[in-house]
Amino acid sequence: MANSATRGAEAESLYSIHGLTKIYGEGPTAVKALRNVDLELPKSAMVVLLGASGSGKSTFLNIVGGLDDATSGQVFFEGLELTALDSTALTEYRRNSVSFVFQFYNLVASLTARENVSLITEIAENPMTPEEALAMVGLESRIDHFPSQLSGGEQQRVAIARAIAKRPKVMLCDEPTGALDSQTGVKVLEALDQVNRELGTTTLLITHNVVIADMADRILRFADGELVEDRDNPDRSAPAELQW
Ligand code: ADP
Ligand code: MG
Repeated sequence: MANSATRGAEAESLYSIHGLTKIYGEGPTAVKALRNVDLELPKSAMVVLLGASGSGKSTFLNIVGGLDDATSGQVFFEGLELTALDSTALTEYRRNSVSFVFQFYNLVASLTARENVSLITEIAENPMTPEEALAMVGLESRIDHFPSQLSGGEQQRVAIARAIAKRPKVMLCDEPTGALDSQTGVKVLEALDQVNRELGTTTLLITHNVVIADMADRILRFADGELVEDRDNPDRSAPAELQW
């Protein structure tokens, strides 16, 4: 996009993406999920990805997160070409640098909030304590609760605490408020906003709710696999100001 040239050299970008294309399947049934996406993303940005269902948002996030491979094109992360890594190196990247948050929380039902977060802090290199991570998302008073004793929004905040506890450089969130009502959703967005502001964690947040774009520094919109809009949002709103 025209913007990328003015955003400076590749070296300053956290992600530098060139001609990213993803085709699922072959022949007449092939689906072009991403078409020639070019993009530079800076460190510490809060980025919201918009677009109708099937427009390629999840495919984009999964490739950026090293969960899926590209058909063609390149993705660089801090100058490292992800699209050229073997699966061992890609796993290393995923383990050290990125965390995912999905629509469904995937907590272990038999473990408390603290224990769910501990699953990650026990294997990460320089983790927060579960207490610190849960405090960041406002759940210090729910630390010994089991998932069944928490609301949907609280469970999602435990999932966010689990995701941030390893201090990833990047948080990739695919419809994290998709299953929540607006009041609960705002709390979840506040947790993501706080992590982004306090830790500088670059955050990519997929939503089909255009209102949520107001909390971003940068807004990307996909349509039919193409990046059709890429704009800055200089006066980002606090999640509590969002209404839907
Ligand atoms: P979004 O997240 O914006 O809803 P997706 O990235 O999930 O869009 O999907 C983009 C397109 O790729 C859609 O047409 C979808 O049906 C197709 N697609 C996604 N994943 C697969 C897959 N594993 N196999 C085949 N087609 C897929
Ligand atoms: Mg999706």
